[in-house]
Amino acid sequence: MDVGKMYMGGEWVEAVHGDTWKVYNPATGDLVGEVAFGDGDDAKRAIDAAAQAFPGWSSATARERAKYLLKLHDLVRAHRDELAELVSLEMGKPLREAKGEVLGAADNFLWYAEEAKRVYGETIPSSVPNKRILVMRQPVGVVAAITPWNFPVNMVARKVAPALASGCTVILKPAESTPLSAIRLFELIAEAGFPPGVANLVLGKPDSIGEAFINSEKVRKIAFTGSTRVGKLLMEGAAKTVKRISLELGGHAPTVVFADADLDAAVAGVFESKYRASGQQCICTNRLFVHEDVHDAFVEKLKARVAAAKVGDGRDKSVEIGPLVNERAVEKVMRHIDDARSKGASVVHGGSRLTEGEYAKGFFVAPTILTNVQANMLVCQEETFGPVLPVLTFSDEEEVVRMANDTPYGLAAYIFTQNLSRAMRVAEALEYGIVGVNDGEVTQTQAPFGGMKESGIGREGGHYAMDEFLEVKFVSLGL
Ligand code: NAD
Repeated sequence: MDVGKMYMGGEWVEAVHGDTWKVYNPATGDLVGEVAFGDGDDAKRAIDAAAQAFPGWSSATARERAKYLLKLHDLVRAHRDELAELVSLEMGKPLREAKGEVLGAADNFLWYAEEAKRVYGETIPSSVPNKRILVMRQPVGVVAAITPWNFPVNMVARKVAPALASGCTVILKPAESTPLSAIRLFELIAEAGFPPGVANLVLGKPDSIGEAFINSEKVRKIAFTGSTRVGKLLMEGAAKTVKRISLELGGHAPTVVFADADLDAAVAGVFESKYRASGQQCICTNRLFVHEDVHDAFVEKLKARVAAAKVGDGRDKSVEIGPLVNERAVEKVMRHIDDARSKGASVVHGGSRLTEGEYAKGFFVAPTILTNVQANMLVCQEETFGPVLPVLTFSDEEEVVRMANDTPYGLAAYIFTQNLSRAMRVAEALEYGIVGVNDGEVTQTQAPFGGMKESGIGREGGHYAMDEFLEVKFVSLGL
């Protein structure tokens, strides 16, 4: 088995200290790869390469930058099946979802190839006759991007594409458990012909690499997706050199099903938002509030849908729900289920780890529905990041909005109702960056994605993401 390498200054390199890291399939426990495992010394090398490439890349025309991004879009599309299989292999996601993710990544490269051409400035009428006010937008500089394992291709694209489009150079540090898709994506970046040092890949020890990013004066921006805990560390660290920072952090999404909802559509939406990626998504429903009048009917329908979903190795085309990422994730999910049970919750479906037959060597938890859930249970307080759906009831709109907002998180929320006035009222009252109305799948390339409160700062997606990588410069012109 070849050892996967890092990519810096246009070259494939091993870790400075020679360490490597093994990658396992979470569905089978099989060893599926080995990659270089670097640290802060490797990060410094990558930072130097990115800093050296910055003057050339930032002064290239937008049209030229777009040319490379378009080529990359074509390559990612052409290799979508292969990339999707890799995603499924190293993180367990069902192939259908993995393909959707890869196409989403391709879409980002296409979108930002176009967006590169629209970095407009402004002229503002002056209050003084012999002066002119010009406003221009310029790339912030070297960007360090840090991504999690749950979307190993698209999380990378959503940072790298707008960063490169705006004229920044980038160093990517992907998650330890999913380096293979990142390496493949960087092979395509190399094939697209980007100049050396424009996009760099460093793999390895998170804290040591993170320190190198934080301490470097050359790194002018950190773009991070991951846990709120690490996000806070990076934000604190970024203060040392007053770097720009954008954070996409944890979530605790409430979903509200009102009595006037189309229950079948709500079941489909809740299933999608809860069990996609086995519940390992920051925008996953984490608390489901169902109006007391429709609670029993809704839970019955939902149970039938969940029971029909096949659980297994994501590479099997009929599988809808894959494994969790590792043993730690299984332990956390089981802790949440056991805690809820001990405090009086009822298990309507699932509730246990799957360990027999095809599940014996993987990290599987049965998709679970809990009723009689109370606010003091862990499932209502911490992000579960697994296929567990706690169901609570409510009787009026104001009460449910209060309960839905009662969390430090503010990423995504969902409501199901046929009443337009209610939909608008509640969407406005929810303290969340994203609200799905009769929609359980809210991500689109051109839409702003990001959270309020402890779910983060800044937005990815659409033209909003460009602002994260651009400085505003005011030129005062005396005539
Ligand atoms: P994590 O924070 O542990 O890891 C995310 C990334 O940060 C990984 O690449 C990891 O190696 C790196 N990292 C860890 N410690 C670091 C340090 N000290 N310095 C620098 N980098 C460090 O999160 P995770 O468990 O991999 O991912 C799950 C979390 O990500 C969940 O909380 C989830 O909600 C969140 N998430 C958020 C979004 C979003 O868009 N808001 C999307 C996906 C996941």
